[in-house]
Amino acid sequence: ALSVTDTLNGGPGDGGLRRYPHLFIGGEWVAPVDGGIVESIDPSTGHPWAAVAFGGPKDIDRAVSAAREAFEGPWRRMPGAERAALLRRFAELYRDFAAEMAVLETRDSGRAIRETRADIAAHYQWYQWFASLADKLSGRTIPIDDAVHCFTTRVPVGVVGAITPWNAPMLTTAWKVGPALAAGCTVVLKPAEQTPVTALELARLAQEAGLPPGVLNVVPGYGHDTGAHLVAHPGVNKIAFTGEGRTAKAILRNGAETLKRFSFELGGKSPHIIFKDADLEQAMNAATSSAWSVCGQSCALGSRVLVERPIYDRVVEAFAERATRVRVGMPLEDATHMGPQAHAEQLAKTLSYIDIGREEGAQLVTGGRRLDAGAFADGFFVEPTVFAGVNNRMRIAREEIFGPVASIIPFDGEDEAVAIANDTTYGLCAGLWTGDVGRAHRVSARIEAGIVWVNTYRYIRWSTPYGGFKSSGWGRENGIEALDNYLETRTTVISTTGRFP
Ligand code: NAD
Repeated sequence: ALSVTDTLNGGPGDGGLRRYPHLFIGGEWVAPVDGGIVESIDPSTGHPWAAVAFGGPKDIDRAVSAAREAFEGPWRRMPGAERAALLRRFAELYRDFAAEMAVLETRDSGRAIRETRADIAAHYQWYQWFASLADKLSGRTIPIDDAVHCFTTRVPVGVVGAITPWNAPMLTTAWKVGPALAAGCTVVLKPAEQTPVTALELARLAQEAGLPPGVLNVVPGYGHDTGAHLVAHPGVNKIAFTGEGRTAKAILRNGAETLKRFSFELGGKSPHIIFKDADLEQAMNAATSSAWSVCGQSCALGSRVLVERPIYDRVVEAFAERATRVRVGMPLEDATHMGPQAHAEQLAKTLSYIDIGREEGAQLVTGGRRLDAGAFADGFFVEPTVFAGVNNRMRIAREEIFGPVASIIPFDGEDEAVAIANDTTYGLCAGLWTGDVGRAHRVSARIEAGIVWVNTYRYIRWSTPYGGFKSSGWGRENGIEALDNYLETRTTVISTTGRFP
């Protein structure tokens, strides 16, 4: 049988690229029918490091058929406890492979190894936790009167198309594949074209864990053809998507014909509010880490730092000082805090927003330049950047930059903090720092966001529902709520008398 990295050409002279010549469909490694082999770029060098099979529409057709067959066949009928056992086995294999998976994600995405290592080491807990729910999908009994017995059952939605982004490929995959498989759905996973490698490794783990053929299929490919075909496919019951709002709108239009189910995890412009009574050291730790983690490429980051006016200058100064301590470097080196942007377009986008900030009259306190000297020459590196004197009307405060750029906005008092925090089309996350427990309750209750952190930030677990208000998304991932994305409720009413009416 073929394995995940069986060489395409084999032997020397193939450029030293790591090769992934096959898609994973119906439990087998197969060459693309109407796709091809595409080079994946290492963002720290700007050069290819892997050659990966990309599927086309016909490959999606094959994958959807395999997923349908698996759904109708073994998977939906398998007792929950057996599905749970398979998922637990999968979780164990994921845990054992985590260190290598972290290296692969770092090569594909450029995210610093110290981050991917810590992040990916935790992912197995998503699979384990959702495994523990697989045999607890119970419904309700609804009392009406003696003439009927009414109850609900929770049944899997069917074949799921999972479409993931490049910024946190394996985390956003776990958020979909974990609950989907636990619910009894089968999955066709299409990872982002910039970061296809780890999804194929995940497929290998699924195979090793003994998931029945077709339960998890992996077809890397481009969004506009392969992704779009998956979305329009009448054999797919639901699309679980993480990515940009603009893409979500295209997906909605494209999927409208088949009236599928959708869940969307989209962008954010999250406020990180620091009141003058906060523990400033802790607040600065969180706010600065949030500005530069994942090189600024995470939907959850507090990209708008709202600071109460009496401490504003101090915070700006401390921010700038800490920015100079960020070690930007090669992402596979342990000492590196921040690697490059994940791809060339994102680098260009970040640099263009830095120009916009300057033109809008924000004060560039530190950073702002591409780093391209020496070893950085062909990579996509940018300096940690801080803008002060930002007001919430500026584009750098309203639009998602997705780079290591903090915008620091002053405010006076609770009401103004809340008004600025909510003056955005997004509503994903928010942080607030205060020593006053009453204020913590008052302000968090007024914030329009799917998750509010008080005196902490970016605390995300398998069991904590995560998702957006407003244009940050539809539905929730993580937590018991995540299962709602993958289950239908069937209401059954049985007459106890056999008489109608
Ligand atoms: P993107 O929308 O460009 O791409 C995401 C995925 O959609 C990729 O797999 C891509 O190939 C696919 N795609 C593109 N066009 C498509 C189409 N027409 N039909 C079907 N699929 C298509 O997003 P991105 O740039 O990869 O990711 C960054 C975005 O993701 C940011 O906005 C970020 O905030 C968001 N994000 C949100 C969360 C969250 O949980 N809310 C988490 C991570 C990232």
